[in-house]
Amino acid sequence: MNSYNVYRNLLSAYGPQGWWPLLQRNSWPGYSQEGYHPGVYSLGLTPNERFEIITGAILTQNTSWANVRSSLTTLLMNCSFGPEYLRSAGHTELAALIRSSGYYNQKAKKLKTTAEFFLQRGAANDTPPSRKELLAIWGIGPETADSILLYAYHAPVCVVDAYSMRIFNRLEYRGSAEEGLWTYMGLQGKFHDELPADVEVFNEFHALLVEHGKRYCTSRNQKCSKCPLNSECRFVEQNS
Ligand code: SF4
Repeated sequence: MNSYNVYRNLLSAYGPQGWWPLLQRNSWPGYSQEGYHPGVYSLGLTPNERFEIITGAILTQNTSWANVRSSLTTLLMNCSFGPEYLRSAGHTELAALIRSSGYYNQKAKKLKTTAEFFLQRGAANDTPPSRKELLAIWGIGPETADSILLYAYHAPVCVVDAYSMRIFNRLEYRGSAEEGLWTYMGLQGKFHDELPADVEVFNEFHALLVEHGKRYCTSRNQKCSKCPLNSECRFVEQNS
């Protein structure tokens, strides 16, 4: 199924999602208490705001955003948040502050390693690092690297995650003998081929797929009868 059709259907069903949430702006006009900012794309990020996004992209590995929000709130309230703090904080102290995100010992190490990388290239440097540089940092994989590039640097890169793989595997009824399941790079290539190279579209597309994966295309007991994509979904066609 064409990615741009999926994007338009989901945008029409759910509206702009206001990603990536930024807690440091939660009192600004246009920002929700949880930092979402639907329809606001020209962020002009400060170094610490950018690092909040980078920190969130690492903390969200293998956990829910509610847990990450809790950790970010704790960090913002209890330290002088920024890459300098993360680099210099004691491991035990940092792990305690991000405990709600799970895997806190590993994630503390990842945050310290990542903070060191960004400080070495200059915290105020707003030129995006290369994907290769990000992937060379311990603990940063393709989804985290692409999230950092898209949401912290507004680079035109599509993010793929478990939600998007599940949704597109079902839409196209992949996993059958003739069509193997999507890989990360394969699905990202399809998105880049089919979507306009527009940061706002890429921003919304990833957020909309996450919303869709939570509302309708859930891992079990998916709600196909009410799904806004059901008229073009091969999973429905094959199972009706
Ligand atoms: S129709 Fe069902 S399987 Fe297809 S995208 Fe919607 S929820 Fe997922």
